Amino acid sequence: MKEEEKNTLPGISGPLLAWYSGNRRSLPWRDDPSAYHVWISEIMLQQTRVEAVKGYYARFLERFPDIRALAEADEDTCLKLWEGLGYYSRARNLQKAARLLMADYGGEMPRHSGELRKLPGIGPYTAAAIASIAFGERIPAIDGNLLRVFSRLALYEEEIRKPAAAAAAEAFFLEQMPADRPGDFNQALMDLGAGICRPGSDPACGECPLRQHCRAAEEGRASGLPLMPAKKARGIEKHTVLVIRDDDRILLRRRPGRGLLAGLYEFPVESGWLSEEEAVQKAREYGCDPLRIRLLPAAKHIFTHKEWHMHGYEIRIGSFSGDAEGGAEGVAAPGGQCFTAPIRDLQEKYALPSAYSAYLPE
Ligand code: SF4
Repeated sequence: MKEEEKNTLPGISGPLLAWYSGNRRSLPWRDDPSAYHVWISEIMLQQTRVEAVKGYYARFLERFPDIRALAEADEDTCLKLWEGLGYYSRARNLQKAARLLMADYGGEMPRHSGELRKLPGIGPYTAAAIASIAFGERIPAIDGNLLRVFSRLALYEEEIRKPAAAAAAEAFFLEQMPADRPGDFNQALMDLGAGICRPGSDPACGECPLRQHCRAAEEGRASGLPLMPAKKARGIEKHTVLVIRDDDRILLRRRPGRGLLAGLYEFPVESGWLSEEEAVQKAREYGCDPLRIRLLPAAKHIFTHKEWHMHGYEIRIGSFSGDAEGGAEGVAAPGGQCFTAPIRDLQEKYALPSAYSAYLPE
Protein backbone atom coordinates (compact mmCIF):
# COMPACT_ATOMS: atom_id res chain seq x y z
CA MET A 1 0.00 0.00 0.00
CA LYS A 2 1.31 3.45 -0.93
CA GLU A 3 2.16 5.82 1.93
CA GLU A 4 -0.55 8.35 0.98
CA GLU A 5 -3.21 5.59 1.00
CA LYS A 6 -2.19 4.06 4.26
CA ASN A 7 -4.47 5.89 6.69
CA THR A 8 -7.22 6.79 4.28
CA LEU A 9 -10.24 4.56 3.85
CA PRO A 10 -12.96 6.44 1.99
CA GLY A 11 -16.61 5.76 2.43
CA ILE A 12 -17.29 5.49 6.16
CA SER A 13 -19.79 8.33 6.41
CA GLY A 14 -22.63 6.54 4.57
CA PRO A 15 -22.74 3.37 6.68
CA LEU A 16 -21.88 5.32 9.83
CA LEU A 17 -24.74 7.80 9.50
CA ALA A 18 -27.19 5.08 8.46
CA TRP A 19 -26.27 3.16 11.59
CA TYR A 20 -26.58 6.32 13.68
CA SER A 21 -30.12 6.98 12.43
CA GLY A 22 -31.29 3.72 13.94
CA ASN A 23 -28.98 3.44 16.92
CA ARG A 24 -28.26 6.91 18.28
CA ARG A 25 -28.32 7.16 22.05
CA SER A 26 -31.19 9.12 23.48
CA LEU A 27 -29.49 11.76 25.64
CA PRO A 28 -31.11 14.77 27.30
CA TRP A 29 -28.75 17.28 25.70
CA ARG A 30 -29.59 15.94 22.25
CA ASP A 31 -33.25 16.96 22.56
CA ASP A 32 -32.41 20.63 22.11
CA PRO A 33 -28.75 20.84 21.04
CA SER A 34 -28.22 24.57 21.50
CA ALA A 35 -24.62 25.68 21.92
CA TYR A 36 -25.22 26.28 25.64
CA HIS A 37 -26.65 22.80 26.15
CA VAL A 38 -23.85 21.10 24.19
CA TRP A 39 -21.28 23.11 26.12
CA ILE A 40 -22.64 22.23 29.56
CA SER A 41 -23.04 18.55 28.68
CA GLU A 42 -19.60 18.22 27.13
CA ILE A 43 -17.90 19.82 30.12
CA MET A 44 -19.80 17.53 32.50
CA LEU A 45 -18.97 14.48 30.40
CA GLN A 46 -15.22 15.03 30.67
CA GLN A 47 -13.89 12.16 32.81
CA THR A 48 -17.45 11.28 33.82
CA ARG A 49 -19.86 8.54 32.73
CA VAL A 50 -22.96 9.48 30.75
CA GLU A 51 -25.32 7.90 33.30
CA ALA A 52 -23.75 9.89 36.14
CA VAL A 53 -24.06 13.15 34.19
CA LYS A 54 -27.77 12.99 33.34
CA GLY A 55 -29.07 14.00 36.78
CA TYR A 56 -26.46 16.72 37.22
CA TYR A 57 -27.25 18.11 33.78
CA ALA A 58 -30.98 18.36 34.53
CA ARG A 59 -30.44 20.05 37.91
CA PHE A 60 -27.81 22.43 36.53
CA LEU A 61 -30.04 23.57 33.66
CA GLU A 62 -33.01 23.95 35.95
CA ARG A 63 -31.01 26.34 38.10
CA PHE A 64 -29.01 27.96 35.25
CA PRO A 65 -31.21 27.82 32.14
CA ASP A 66 -29.00 30.19 30.17
CA ILE A 67 -25.62 31.90 30.06
CA ARG A 68 -26.86 34.93 31.98
CA ALA A 69 -28.16 32.86 34.91
CA LEU A 70 -24.84 31.01 35.13
CA ALA A 71 -22.84 34.23 34.94
CA GLU A 72 -24.87 35.89 37.69
CA ALA A 73 -24.86 32.97 40.15
CA ASP A 74 -22.51 32.90 43.11
CA GLU A 75 -19.69 30.39 43.02
CA ASP A 76 -20.89 28.40 46.04
CA THR A 77 -24.25 27.69 44.37
CA CYS A 78 -22.49 26.53 41.23
CA LEU A 79 -20.06 24.31 43.17
CA LYS A 80 -22.86 22.84 45.25
CA LEU A 81 -24.66 21.75 42.08
CA TRP A 82 -21.39 20.21 40.92
CA GLU A 83 -20.80 18.37 44.19
CA GLY A 84 -19.85 14.74 43.51
CA LEU A 85 -19.00 15.24 39.81
CA GLY A 86 -15.36 15.94 40.64
CA TYR A 87 -12.81 18.02 38.70
CA TYR A 88 -14.32 21.17 40.15
CA SER A 89 -12.21 23.53 38.08
CA ARG A 90 -14.65 22.63 35.30
CA ALA A 91 -17.47 24.35 37.19
CA ARG A 92 -15.38 27.40 37.96
CA ASN A 93 -14.29 27.69 34.33
CA LEU A 94 -17.90 27.43 33.17
CA GLN A 95 -18.75 30.42 35.30
CA LYS A 96 -15.69 32.38 34.21
CA ALA A 97 -16.56 31.72 30.58
CA ALA A 98 -20.22 32.65 31.12
CA ARG A 99 -19.15 35.98 32.62
CA LEU A 100 -16.81 36.59 29.70
CA LEU A 101 -19.60 35.77 27.26
CA MET A 102 -21.85 38.31 28.97
CA ALA A 103 -19.11 40.96 28.98
CA ASP A 104 -17.56 40.49 25.54
CA TYR A 105 -19.88 38.42 23.35
CA GLY A 106 -23.31 39.89 24.02
CA GLY A 107 -24.33 36.82 26.01
CA GLU A 108 -24.03 34.49 22.98
CA MET A 109 -21.69 31.58 22.31
CA PRO A 110 -19.30 32.29 19.42
CA ARG A 111 -20.15 30.19 16.36
CA HIS A 112 -16.61 29.19 15.35
CA SER A 113 -14.38 26.64 17.05
CA GLY A 114 -11.34 28.95 16.95
CA GLU A 115 -13.26 31.60 18.91
CA LEU A 116 -14.76 29.06 21.33
CA ARG A 117 -11.27 27.86 22.24
CA LYS A 118 -10.47 31.29 23.66
CA LEU A 119 -12.95 30.69 26.49
CA PRO A 120 -11.78 29.25 29.83
CA GLY A 121 -12.13 25.49 30.05
CA ILE A 122 -12.89 24.98 26.35
CA GLY A 123 -10.20 22.95 24.61
CA PRO A 124 -10.00 21.66 21.03
CA TYR A 125 -12.39 18.75 21.62
CA THR A 126 -15.14 20.76 23.33
CA ALA A 127 -14.84 23.62 20.83
CA ALA A 128 -15.18 21.17 17.95
CA ALA A 129 -18.14 19.40 19.57
CA ILE A 130 -20.03 22.68 20.14
CA ALA A 131 -19.17 24.15 16.74
CA SER A 132 -20.05 21.02 14.79
CA ILE A 133 -23.22 20.04 16.66
CA ALA A 134 -24.72 23.48 17.29
CA PHE A 135 -23.38 25.47 14.33
CA GLY A 136 -22.58 22.89 11.65
CA GLU A 137 -18.86 23.58 11.43
CA ARG A 138 -16.98 20.82 9.65
CA ILE A 139 -14.48 19.85 12.32
CA PRO A 140 -13.89 16.45 13.99
CA ALA A 141 -14.22 16.37 17.80
CA ILE A 142 -11.26 14.20 18.72
CA ASP A 143 -11.62 12.57 22.13
CA GLY A 144 -10.64 9.14 23.46
CA ASN A 145 -13.51 7.43 21.63
CA LEU A 146 -12.60 8.89 18.27
CA LEU A 147 -8.91 8.19 18.79
CA ARG A 148 -9.69 4.55 19.50
CA VAL A 149 -11.96 4.20 16.47
CA PHE A 150 -9.37 5.94 14.30
CA SER A 151 -6.51 3.75 15.51
CA ARG A 152 -8.46 0.64 14.55
CA LEU A 153 -9.95 1.80 11.27
CA ALA A 154 -6.57 3.03 10.07
CA LEU A 155 -4.42 0.46 11.90
CA TYR A 156 -2.52 3.33 13.48
CA GLU A 157 0.36 1.82 15.39
CA GLU A 158 1.95 4.85 17.02
CA GLU A 159 1.31 5.83 20.62
CA ILE A 160 -2.18 7.33 20.72
CA ARG A 161 -1.63 9.98 23.42
CA LYS A 162 0.91 11.89 21.34
CA PRO A 163 -0.19 15.10 19.59
CA ALA A 164 0.72 13.54 16.23
CA ALA A 165 -1.98 10.92 16.78
CA ALA A 166 -4.68 13.55 17.38
CA ALA A 167 -3.55 15.38 14.25
CA ALA A 168 -3.64 12.16 12.21
CA ALA A 169 -7.11 11.29 13.55
CA GLU A 170 -8.39 14.78 12.77
CA ALA A 171 -7.10 14.63 9.19
CA PHE A 172 -8.53 11.13 8.75
CA PHE A 173 -12.01 12.01 9.94
CA LEU A 174 -12.07 15.44 8.30
CA GLU A 175 -11.61 13.78 4.96
CA GLN A 176 -14.63 11.57 5.66
CA MET A 177 -16.86 14.20 7.24
CA PRO A 178 -19.89 15.23 5.14
CA ALA A 179 -20.46 18.97 4.73
CA ASP A 180 -24.14 18.76 5.63
CA ARG A 181 -24.02 16.66 8.84
CA PRO A 182 -20.75 17.28 10.69
CA GLY A 183 -22.45 17.23 14.10
CA ASP A 184 -24.18 13.91 13.41
CA PHE A 185 -20.93 12.47 12.06
CA ASN A 186 -19.10 13.36 15.29
CA GLN A 187 -21.91 12.09 17.47
CA ALA A 188 -22.15 8.88 15.47
CA LEU A 189 -18.45 8.25 16.08
CA MET A 190 -18.88 9.04 19.78
CA ASP A 191 -21.73 6.51 19.99
CA LEU A 192 -19.83 3.94 17.98
CA GLY A 193 -16.82 4.30 20.29
CA ALA A 194 -18.97 4.08 23.41
CA GLY A 195 -21.16 1.15 22.36
CA ILE A 196 -19.48 -0.88 19.61
CA CYS A 197 -15.79 -0.07 19.22
CA ARG A 198 -15.25 -0.50 22.94
CA PRO A 199 -11.85 -0.32 24.65
CA GLY A 200 -9.53 -3.23 25.27
CA SER A 201 -10.48 -6.69 24.14
CA ASP A 202 -14.14 -5.81 23.86
CA PRO A 203 -14.91 -4.35 20.41
CA ALA A 204 -18.13 -5.73 18.92
CA CYS A 205 -16.79 -5.96 15.37
CA GLY A 206 -19.60 -8.31 14.35
CA GLU A 207 -22.14 -5.52 14.96
CA CYS A 208 -20.06 -2.69 13.55
CA PRO A 209 -21.29 -0.73 10.53
CA LEU A 210 -17.66 0.01 9.62
CA ARG A 211 -16.48 -3.60 9.67
CA GLN A 212 -15.82 -3.57 5.94
CA HIS A 213 -13.68 -0.46 6.28
CA CYS A 214 -11.60 -1.49 9.27
CA ARG A 215 -8.03 -2.55 8.82
CA ALA A 216 -7.53 -3.69 12.41
CA ALA A 217 -10.60 -5.96 12.23
CA GLU A 218 -9.43 -7.29 8.91
CA GLU A 219 -6.11 -8.26 10.45
CA GLY A 220 -7.60 -9.46 13.75
CA ARG A 221 -5.71 -6.83 15.72
CA ALA A 222 -8.49 -4.57 17.05
CA SER A 223 -8.12 -5.49 20.71
CA GLY A 224 -4.41 -4.54 20.68
CA LEU A 225 -5.19 -0.98 19.63
CA PRO A 226 -4.85 1.84 20.36
CA LEU A 227 -1.29 1.74 21.55
CA MET A 228 -1.26 3.31 25.02
CA PRO A 229 1.74 4.71 26.93
CA ALA A 230 2.88 2.68 29.93
CA LYS A 231 0.85 3.60 32.99
CA LYS A 232 2.58 5.44 35.82
CA ALA A 233 1.76 4.26 39.32
CA ARG A 234 -0.35 6.78 41.26
CA GLY A 235 1.23 8.33 44.33
CA ILE A 236 -0.38 7.41 47.64
CA GLU A 237 -1.06 10.01 50.33
CA LYS A 238 -2.16 9.12 53.85
CA HIS A 239 -4.56 11.46 55.62
CA THR A 240 -6.55 11.58 58.81
CA VAL A 241 -9.97 13.23 58.63
CA LEU A 242 -11.22 14.83 61.84
CA VAL A 243 -14.99 15.06 62.09
CA ILE A 244 -15.25 17.38 65.08
CA ARG A 245 -18.84 18.07 66.11
CA ASP A 246 -21.34 18.69 68.84
CA ASP A 247 -25.02 17.78 68.53
CA ASP A 248 -25.83 20.36 65.89
CA ARG A 249 -22.65 21.88 64.52
CA ILE A 250 -19.50 20.69 62.85
CA LEU A 251 -16.05 22.12 62.20
CA LEU A 252 -15.30 22.91 58.54
CA ARG A 253 -12.73 24.78 56.56
CA ARG A 254 -12.43 25.97 53.00
CA ARG A 255 -9.68 24.64 50.76
CA PRO A 256 -7.37 27.17 49.08
CA GLY A 257 -8.61 28.90 45.93
CA ARG A 258 -6.05 27.17 43.72
CA GLY A 259 -4.99 23.56 43.22
CA LEU A 260 -6.73 20.27 43.89
CA LEU A 261 -10.42 20.65 44.89
CA ALA A 262 -9.89 24.40 45.07
CA GLY A 263 -12.48 26.39 46.97
CA LEU A 264 -14.44 23.39 48.25
CA TYR A 265 -15.18 22.76 51.91
CA GLU A 266 -13.72 19.96 53.97
CA PHE A 267 -13.31 18.67 57.49
CA PRO A 268 -9.98 19.41 59.12
CA VAL A 269 -7.52 16.95 57.58
CA GLU A 270 -4.06 16.04 58.83
CA SER A 271 -1.22 14.42 56.91
CA GLY A 272 -0.44 10.84 57.93
CA TRP A 273 -2.50 8.45 60.01
CA LEU A 274 -2.91 9.80 63.52
CA SER A 275 -3.39 7.73 66.65
CA GLU A 276 -6.41 8.49 68.87
CA GLU A 277 -4.20 10.48 71.23
CA GLU A 278 -2.77 12.54 68.38
CA ALA A 279 -6.26 13.17 66.97
CA VAL A 280 -7.50 14.37 70.37
CA GLN A 281 -4.48 16.65 70.64
CA LYS A 282 -5.21 18.09 67.18
CA ALA A 283 -8.81 18.77 68.19
CA ARG A 284 -7.53 20.72 71.21
CA GLU A 285 -5.31 22.75 68.88
CA TYR A 286 -8.50 23.68 67.02
CA GLY A 287 -9.81 25.12 70.29
CA CYS A 288 -12.10 22.17 71.04
CA ASP A 289 -12.52 20.14 74.19
CA PRO A 290 -13.08 16.48 73.19
CA LEU A 291 -15.53 14.37 75.22
CA ARG A 292 -15.13 11.15 73.29
CA ILE A 293 -13.57 9.83 70.11
CA ARG A 294 -14.67 7.12 67.69
CA LEU A 295 -12.68 5.52 64.90
CA LEU A 296 -14.51 5.79 61.56
CA PRO A 297 -14.09 3.34 58.66
CA ALA A 298 -11.04 3.81 56.47
CA ALA A 299 -11.74 5.23 53.01
CA LYS A 300 -9.91 5.62 49.74
CA HIS A 301 -10.32 8.16 46.97
CA ILE A 302 -8.66 7.89 43.59
CA PHE A 303 -7.69 10.97 41.63
CA THR A 304 -6.03 10.86 38.22
CA HIS A 305 -2.49 11.02 39.55
CA LYS A 306 -2.79 10.17 43.22
CA GLU A 307 -4.78 8.25 45.80
CA TRP A 308 -5.86 9.41 49.22
CA HIS A 309 -5.90 6.65 51.80
CA MET A 310 -7.86 8.06 54.69
CA HIS A 311 -8.44 7.20 58.32
CA GLY A 312 -11.01 9.19 60.22
CA TYR A 313 -12.22 9.97 63.71
CA GLU A 314 -15.46 11.41 64.94
CA ILE A 315 -14.62 13.62 67.88
CA ARG A 316 -17.60 14.67 69.98
CA ILE A 317 -17.44 17.80 72.05
CA GLY A 318 -20.02 19.32 74.41
CA SER A 319 -20.51 22.45 72.38
CA PHE A 320 -18.43 24.82 70.33
CA SER A 321 -17.54 27.80 72.40
CA GLY A 322 -15.05 30.60 72.68
CA ASP A 323 -12.66 30.81 69.75
CA ALA A 324 -14.14 27.83 67.96
CA GLU A 325 -17.42 29.67 67.32
CA GLY A 326 -16.09 31.23 64.23
CA GLY A 327 -19.28 31.35 62.21
CA ALA A 328 -18.75 32.41 58.65
CA GLU A 329 -15.65 34.40 59.54
CA GLY A 330 -13.78 31.34 60.74
CA VAL A 331 -11.10 30.99 63.36
CA ALA A 332 -7.38 30.73 62.94
CA ALA A 333 -6.38 27.11 63.36
CA PRO A 334 -3.57 24.84 62.23
CA GLY A 335 -4.13 23.71 58.65
CA GLY A 336 -6.30 26.65 57.60
CA GLN A 337 -9.24 28.85 58.56
CA CYS A 338 -11.92 26.82 60.28
CA PHE A 339 -15.47 27.69 61.16
CA THR A 340 -18.45 25.88 62.57
CA ALA A 341 -21.49 25.18 60.46
CA PRO A 342 -24.89 23.64 61.24
CA ILE A 343 -24.72 19.95 60.32
CA ARG A 344 -27.98 20.24 58.38
CA ASP A 345 -26.31 22.78 56.05
CA LEU A 346 -23.88 20.16 54.75
CA GLN A 347 -26.75 18.96 52.57
CA GLU A 348 -27.79 22.22 50.97
CA LYS A 349 -25.10 24.81 51.39
CA TYR A 350 -21.52 23.59 51.50
CA ALA A 351 -19.95 21.73 48.58
CA LEU A 352 -17.76 18.95 49.95
CA PRO A 353 -15.70 16.75 47.61
CA SER A 354 -17.02 13.21 47.28
CA ALA A 355 -13.63 12.09 48.61
CA TYR A 356 -15.10 12.79 52.07
CA SER A 357 -18.48 11.16 51.55
CA ALA A 358 -17.56 8.30 53.89
CA TYR A 359 -17.17 10.86 56.69
CA LEU A 360 -20.40 12.82 56.31
CA PRO A 361 -22.53 12.62 59.46
CA GLU A 362 -25.78 10.78 58.92
S1 SF4 B 1 -14.75 -3.25 13.07
FE1 SF4 B 1 -14.29 -3.51 15.22
S2 SF4 B 1 -12.36 -2.48 15.56
FE2 SF4 B 1 -13.13 -1.79 13.59
S3 SF4 B 1 -14.21 0.10 14.04
FE3 SF4 B 1 -15.72 -1.55 14.10
S4 SF4 B 1 -15.78 -2.24 16.27
FE4 SF4 B 1 -13.94 -0.98 15.98
